[in-house]
Amino acid sequence: MKWLMKLKDVTKCYGEITALDGASLEIMENEIFTVLGPNGSGKTTMLKIMASIDEPTSGEVFFDGNIINNSNRSQARKKSTMVFQKTTIFNTTVYKNIAYGLKLRGYSKKETEEKVKEALSLVKLAGYEKRLAKKLSGGEQQRVSLARALALNTKLLLLDEPTANLDPKNVSIIEETISRVNRDFNTTVVMATHNLFQAETLTNRVALLLGGKMAQVGAPQEILRGPSINLASFARLENVFSGNSKILREGTSVIAVDDGVEIEAALKKSGKVTVFVRPEDIIVSKKTMSSSARNVFEGKIVEVSDFGPVVKLRVDAGKEFVVQITKRSFVEMRLNVGSTVFLTFKASSVHLI
Ligand code: ADP
Ligand code: MG
Repeated sequence: MKWLMKLKDVTKCYGEITALDGASLEIMENEIFTVLGPNGSGKTTMLKIMASIDEPTSGEVFFDGNIINNSNRSQARKKSTMVFQKTTIFNTTVYKNIAYGLKLRGYSKKETEEKVKEALSLVKLAGYEKRLAKKLSGGEQQRVSLARALALNTKLLLLDEPTANLDPKNVSIIEETISRVNRDFNTTVVMATHNLFQAETLTNRVALLLGGKMAQVGAPQEILRGPSINLASFARLENVFSGNSKILREGTSVIAVDDGVEIEAALKKSGKVTVFVRPEDIIVSKKTMSSSARNVFEGKIVEVSDFGPVVKLRVDAGKEFVVQITKRSFVEMRLNVGSTVFLTFKASSVHLI
């Protein structure tokens, strides 16, 4: 098998922040490859570099047989398409949203019409041409932006968390579309996700990215089932935070994760660290509690997943936290998407990876 994309010791810095730290990786032709990692681990940065939208601070990027440099970057950009996590939908019809890129590439009206039709049918939105894109549901809008990318039929398709925050129906349509274009059009797909299950069901190989570093690459089963210091449990991909740690006088450390979030940990370690907190170790309440716990964050619930007796909540508190509570508490507290909650956990619940 031949590689289509290759990163060699790629580092990307944004000022003081090292978003990618010496990542090396080969994407083979016609594979579905997942970049798995918690928020802030560098997934989007990596995809943007693969899409030639951004260039590395150091290291080399090869695509389709060539090293990418300033003279061929814009050419390389045309051979791949990136679908961003936050969809950019234009305030016009679905047809015009999808036709836009085709027009730029000089397709005739007839060809454009055919390609739009085909792309819409792939994402199960056949006949939606005249609808106003902004009036569609979030999931449908996500499918329109996927259709826009598919219509271009590039060799490489880069999808940044394509199913984040979508309901199960839209998730399965998007997953089905991804496997279909891979199978029928030989499109190579690189997908960023923090969803372990997706990595397992959909993809050939997975790279585990932690704190900008490539922690592991392999078949999903190897990474997910095998013994690994990086990934002992599902919990480790949720509530994983990297930041600069400072030892406090009391012997604990405070870790400055970006976006203004600081986590106190019962550790004595300074410098860059990656830590995690188990979802079940975080207490959810509607008001602040007086307790000895060192970490209290106020946030809003952005996603609710029902697992029967337990409910998982994704809470935006500057950083995203995943917490797990019983269905009974969830009902009793009358929680829902949009509710404000307080998250409390002890410094001793913060574990070093
Ligand atoms: P992910 O997609 O895995 O959530 P990102 O690639 O978006 O991670 O970000 C990795 C790190 O780089 C984060 O600490 C983020 O805050 C930082 N970062 C990303 N883009 C920029 C930027 N344009 N300017 C400054 N920092 C950035
Ligand atoms: Mg991202």
